Amino acid sequence: MWFMSKISDRLRQIEENIAAACARAGRDTSEVKVVVVTKTAPLASVKEVVELGYIELGENRVQRLKQVAQDIAEFLGEGNSKEKSSVGVKWHMIGHLQRNKVKQVLRITSIIHSVDTLRLAEEINTTSSKLGIRPDILLQVNCSGEPQKYGVPVGAATHLAEQFAGMENLRLTGLMTMAPLTRDKDVVRACFLRAKELFEEIKLEGLAGAQFTQLSMGMSQDYEIAVEEGATILRIGSAIFAG
Ligand SMILES: *Cc1c(COP(=O)(O)O)cnc(C)c1O
Repeated sequence: MWFMSKISDRLRQIEENIAAACARAGRDTSEVKVVVVTKTAPLASVKEVVELGYIELGENRVQRLKQVAQDIAEFLGEGNSKEKSSVGVKWHMIGHLQRNKVKQVLRITSIIHSVDTLRLAEEINTTSSKLGIRPDILLQVNCSGEPQKYGVPVGAATHLAEQFAGMENLRLTGLMTMAPLTRDKDVVRACFLRAKELFEEIKLEGLAGAQFTQLSMGMSQDYEIAVEEGATILRIGSAIFAG
C-alpha cells in the first residue's frame, strides 16, 4: 500500500514502543500480546484492525460485545456462509461482569479477564459445565487499593486463586489489574509491581497449575510501564482509535 492509515501508523508506533520497553526490561517481544480494545471504535475501524492481523479483541460491556462480535463474524463470512472463516477473531471480555450475563458472554468469548468474586467464578463454572466448555479466566486484582475499583484486594487474592483453581470447568490462566488513573508514573509502576509479585507468588506456590501464565495489565496510558514490570497481555484502545 502506498499510504498508511492513521490506525496502522498508530499500531506500528505502539509495536515499536513495546519493543523498546521489552529491550529495556530484557524481555522478548514474543512474551507480550496486544488485545485491541474496540469499545470506542466504529465498526469500520474494528474491521481495519482485523484486516491488519489483530484478531484478539476486547470489549468491556456485554451488549456491545454481542453486537460487535456478530458484526465482525458477518464481515468475516461466518454469519451467512456455511464455511467458517479461518481467521476467526478471539474476543476477550475485560469489563465488570454480572452473573446473570455469564451465559451470553460464554457464547461469544472463552476468555474473561475480570473475575473478582467467588460467586462469579462459580456461575462461570456451572454455566460452562452445562455448555460443555472450559473457558480461560483471569482473577482481577485491585493493586491500587482504591475502594471504588473492581478487583479483589491483594491480600485476598491468593486464597481466591486457590478456590478458582479447584473449579473443573474453568482454567485460571492468570491475573488482571488496572492501575489508578494518575499521571504519577511511580504510583502506576508500584501498582504493576505489586500485581507481578502476587502473580509470581501464586506461581511459585503452585496454587493454580501450569496454565497460570498470563499477567494482563497496561492500557493506552501506561502499557510501556506494564511491559517493563512483566505484563504478558496489554489491553489497548484509545491509543489506537482516538484522535
Ligand atoms: C477501556 C479499557 C481498556 C483500554 O483502555 P484505553 O485507555 O482506551 O487503552 C483496558 N482495560 C479495560 C478493562 C477497559 O475497560
